[in-house]
Amino acid sequence: MNIIPPFDLSEQYKIIGEEINQAVLDVLASGRYIGGTIVETFEKQLAGYVGVSECVSCNSGTDALYLALRALKIGAGDEVITTPFTFVATGETISAVGATPIFVDIDPQTFNLDLSQIAAAINPRTKAIIPVHLFGQPADMTRLMAIANAHHLAVIEDCAQATGAEWAGQKVGSFGQIGCFSFYPTKNLGACGDGGAITTNDPEIAATLRMLRDHGRRSGYYHEEFGVNSRLDAMQAAILQIKLRYLDGWNDQRRVVADRYHQLLQPISRVVTPQVPANGRPVWNQYTVRIVDDLSQPEGEELLRDRVRTQLQAKGVNSMVYYPLPLHLQPIYHSLGYLPGQLAVSDRAAHEVLSLPMFPELSIEQQDQVVYSLKDCLV
Ligand SMILES: *Cc1c(COP(=O)(O)O)cnc(C)c1O
Repeated sequence: MNIIPPFDLSEQYKIIGEEINQAVLDVLASGRYIGGTIVETFEKQLAGYVGVSECVSCNSGTDALYLALRALKIGAGDEVITTPFTFVATGETISAVGATPIFVDIDPQTFNLDLSQIAAAINPRTKAIIPVHLFGQPADMTRLMAIANAHHLAVIEDCAQATGAEWAGQKVGSFGQIGCFSFYPTKNLGACGDGGAITTNDPEIAATLRMLRDHGRRSGYYHEEFGVNSRLDAMQAAILQIKLRYLDGWNDQRRVVADRYHQLLQPISRVVTPQVPANGRPVWNQYTVRIVDDLSQPEGEELLRDRVRTQLQAKGVNSMVYYPLPLHLQPIYHSLGYLPGQLAVSDRAAHEVLSLPMFPELSIEQQDQVVYSLKDCLV
């Protein structure tokens, strides 16, 4: 039996390994490991790719979000609207700066923020909206920016899963005041370690970000704000420069995989495949289906999705559940007082989602094994 992992970085390394090795050796020989032209060049390249004037690299996607909130002076007493159906970092960083996340339910089709519910969550304490382009599917940024502008709110895009995704022909990370990217290895543009970046068209915000990521200083040993140490290593920047050249090709390969999943899985009645809005051009960091459950089973009984996942694993297919518990129901947010059922679409998604193996090099044979195994589990 062939074992299919949810993602496989070793396949990519087989193809570009020699280039990566050489770049790493060059950095080692250069003696310059933090900062320098390699990091600055990568920042310029990513800014150009996203279509903005400024890019500030940092240590992770989490730091990118934290620094973005700090740069916009969001803190205690402020509220930030975001989705509960995301990786914890989106909410965690709002809390880290002392602000309060206000969770708005998601759209059942795209798993992204339900924009029709945002206006009702806005009050005088609201300072920003953080949309997440979840699974590489862009949020409707035309409508979201209109809502934000009408209420004078900042927009920080969480692009961690969506490097290269486009809405209406424009790259995500170029719509809001700030875009936040992660180079965690399994993201579409992944480093060989941690890394992140922040994009903006505002030179003042960029200067503040550069100051905050480097201990709150603009130069020397004079510190005007409490900052952090959040830098991208030269070695990661060198690797990312190479991978950025491949990114569009890899994202195209992911689209081919996604199209084929769609064709093969759509006829299965218990499986709902992801829908792409007309203006969206996703990059499929994940291919996430719903295993439709009647959810009428007694408390404590296994979910259909979980049963399917275990059966798939026995057939060599390793899937993932992103995310089994939405943020508003996490122990860290008990104090906010959200109740099960209050954000019902997110709750239901958490019970039904299943992310199938997805990476650019996934072969037709592997994909067939995923599809036939899934069919087997549902007959
Ligand atoms: C990965 C991820 C982050 C955090 O990025 P790190 O580089 O792992 O810190 C933030 N938001 C979302 C939606 C993510 O998927």
